[in-house]
This record gives sequence, C-alpha cells and structure tokens, in this order.
Amino acid sequence: MRKYRIGIAFFYHESHSFSPMKTEIEHFWNEGYFKGDEIYDAYTGTKTEVGGFLDVLKKEGDVEVVPLLCAAAIPSGVVSTEAYSIIEEQMLESIRQAGKLDGLLLALHGAMVAEHLFDPEEHLLGNIRTLIGSDVPIATTLDMHANLSGKMIRYTPLHFGFKTYPHVDMYEQGVNAAVALLKRLKDGLTFYASFEKLPMMPPSINMRTAEGPMHKMIERAKQAEQEEGIYNVSVFGGFPYSDIPMVGASVLVVALDKEKGEETARKMASLFWSVREEFIMDLPDVKEGLDLALSLEDTKPIVLADISDNPLSCGSGDTTELLREMVKANIPNTLFGGLYDPESIEACRQAGVGNKITLSLGGKVSPEFGGPVHTEATIMALSDGVFYNSGPFNQNLRVDLKGAAHIRIGEMDVLLIGRPMSANDPEMFRHIGLEPSAKRILGLKAKNHFRAAFDPLVGRIIYIDAPGIASNRLSIFNYRHIPKPIWPLDNVEYKVEQKGTEIWKQ
Ligand SMILES: [Zn+2]
Repeated sequence: MRKYRIGIAFFYHESHSFSPMKTEIEHFWNEGYFKGDEIYDAYTGTKTEVGGFLDVLKKEGDVEVVPLLCAAAIPSGVVSTEAYSIIEEQMLESIRQAGKLDGLLLALHGAMVAEHLFDPEEHLLGNIRTLIGSDVPIATTLDMHANLSGKMIRYTPLHFGFKTYPHVDMYEQGVNAAVALLKRLKDGLTFYASFEKLPMMPPSINMRTAEGPMHKMIERAKQAEQEEGIYNVSVFGGFPYSDIPMVGASVLVVALDKEKGEETARKMASLFWSVREEFIMDLPDVKEGLDLALSLEDTKPIVLADISDNPLSCGSGDTTELLREMVKANIPNTLFGGLYDPESIEACRQAGVGNKITLSLGGKVSPEFGGPVHTEATIMALSDGVFYNSGPFNQNLRVDLKGAAHIRIGEMDVLLIGRPMSANDPEMFRHIGLEPSAKRILGLKAKNHFRAAFDPLVGRIIYIDAPGIASNRLSIFNYRHIPKPIWPLDNVEYKVEQKGTEIWKQ
C-alpha cells in the first residue's frame, strides 16, 4: 500500500520592528533548530503544534511522516536577511530532498518580519507553493498575534489560529491542522477561506481569553463552529510592534459552505470592531504599582508584572526600573526575575557560591530605558539553566536559559538568566532552588502567558507601565509602514461591509 507522505515543518519568530536586538541565525541555532529525525526527539510528547501534528499522523496507518526542518527563536528584533535566507533555503532544500509529498503541515507564527521582507511567512508559503505545485494541500497553525494578510490564504485556506491566550492550545491547533489536511487529502473535502482584515491593532495587554473582549470573540467563534457548513474560525489580534503594512487584527473563517463562511467572517469582524475599546488599559507606573503591592494583604504572592520588558513580546529582559525600585524598597521575602545578564552570571561563576560580589545588573541591551543597577549581592546558587516546563504553556518543552544564577540583594532574591526568557513557568525558579509560591511579592518579566501556570499560585497581579520596548502605549513608537488611519493611533470610521471579504478555496 502506498502511504500518504506528509511533511512537517516549523518556522517561528515574532519580530519587533523597534527592538535594537536583531535576530541572527545563531539565535535560531541556539534556541531551537532541528532537522529531520531530530524533530521527533525535540517535540514528541510536547504540548506544541508539532507535538499535535505528530500525534495525529502517527495514528494513521497509511501515513508516512516526513520531518523536514524546525527553526524557532524567542521574539526579538527583526530577523536578519542572512538568517531568514539561510532558513528559507534549508526549508526549501529539505522539501526538495524529501521527494514527492502528498501534504505539508507547517507551524508558523504569522508576525515575523525580516530586514528585507514585511511578510516573510507569505514569502515562504509562496516559494513552497512554487516548489510543490498548487495541488498538494498545506495546513498551517498560526499564533493569535499573527499579522495576517489576505495573500496567505491564496496559498492555502487551511490556517488554524490559537484560540487561547495564554496560548495553551498550540497542541490542539496542531491536531486540528493535521485532521483538516487528512480530510482534504483522503476525503477530498473542499475548504473555503473567508478573510476580513480590520483597520485596528489592539495592544495585547487585555487580550487574554479568560475574560474581556477576546473572551467574547473566541466564545462567538466556537459557537459559529457548531453551525452547519463552518469548519473553523480564527480570530487574530495581531502584533502591534511590527511596523508593516499588514499589521493588525483579522478574522479567518474556514468553511465548507462558501456563503456561510463569508457571512460568518463579516459578523465576526463587526463584533471585533465593536469591542475594540475594551482592549485599552491604563496601568500604574513602577512606583504606584509597588506602593499598591505593599498596601495589599494577601495569603498568596502579589505579582508585579513588568509587561513592557516581557521577553515573549520582544523585551530584552534586562530593563531595570522595577528592579531598581524593588532593591531600594528592600522588602523581605521578595523575588525578582529573570533578569537577562550573562556578564553578571559569569562574574558570579568566577566568584563562586557563598561569596559576596559587586555587580552592575541589567540595563545593558537597552540603556535608554534605564542604566544598570549597581549593587552588592551574595551568590546563592548557580545552574546550567536547563529545565522542563511543568505548566500548561509549552508543557514538557525543554528550556535552556544558557546559565542562571540566584543572588541575594539585601532581603530580596534575584534570578539572573543567560538569555532573555519570560518567567512563564515556575520551573524557571524551582530548577535553581527558588519557590515562587512561598514569596510575598514577585517581580516578573512577563505579560500574559505566565498566568497559565502562575494563576493558581499567586494572588493579585499588578501590570505595571515601566519604560520598555513592549510598552502597551503604542503612541511612543515611530511607525513608518503601518496603514493609515489605524486604531488606536487614529480615529477610524469603519464599516465591515465597505470592503469585500477575500475568499479562496482548495
Ligand atoms: Zn502570541
């Protein structure tokens, strides 16, 4: 029996046009670069998109999995032309080498920007289409923060966006994409994609799906999926730190019934537009946030979330304003982390555990947001920085911080880490002997993903507006390429019906 040969690949980056940290090929090589059979070791059993692809395909007796290439780096500045070109060429070469494929599953992010390309994912999909021809079905997974353009659906209607934020359904969307691909392949189903782009780029601070406007959108999407003829509804909030013409929110309906799909896309877009003001939040500054934390009584830790420097929103993880105020306040039983500072980790390594050391902490990548904090600290513990996520976000995935140090400054514990990484999983602290749930106050470099694992452990969460590249005040950025007018920077008069829905089929 001839088997269906299905390729799987992954190319992930979320790019901040205003970040000074360009993303080079080394970032991908160091953080997540797997070829061929290495992909099984890296992703089998993980709650990731590729983990979902593998679980579906391996159950099918008549499918041969063809692992191609996976390349992922943490959100940061735009991807260099060289890095993008190397990965794209290796991806295309792996497809050429694979021989004839019957289908392709591709985990993408949707908010990558390269130095020379506003929409690298569209570029990649176009090149893959040219290579494999127009008949081979492709299905992708996309982040809820994808800046999707209508061009993406010309290459395939089968795109599946995450429906949770924190993103704890990456695995499920991987499963959905794989199942849809098999339906197209084995049952010959024809899918129609109806796409609506909106003139808005909401900040992500209030985009969690447990409550608020995105909760409403996702509930409506799930209802629509129960209706006859509708296969899948994705709601994309977009990523407002990408300075590109296709920035912002959109809705994509995958349907078996073309008219129903189009009607649903319009209704979803109208609802999205009507709830937009709910995405805006006013946040306390560092001093106000810290005063609020100190005034509260709670049996569980109070979190000060330094959202403007959240590494998964492209923050450098080394801004210092919150750290500086917390060091000054010297509150017993507090923990701050993780601060990206490989130089200080190396200094701690040289000095050795148990010794005192003078350090200049953080403030090195983006000194415009505050210089280093000069302080004396005691070195409590050192580690290689490797742990496995235990919480629901990217569960079981291996994380390598490239070294870590636990230091104590006065009454306060600080975790230094060797590469920028959001404090999204408590194992980041536990692996070196720190228990976040036992603290009174936690200062975390994090935004929303951390809540998947931390919500059960912590009490009040205070989002603070410190200086940083991932600030939720979008007016501080000097945009040059986004469409105008666009909400919330401009007042926009808009009616969904004024622009035709884009529809493509396969
Ligand atoms: Zn996202």
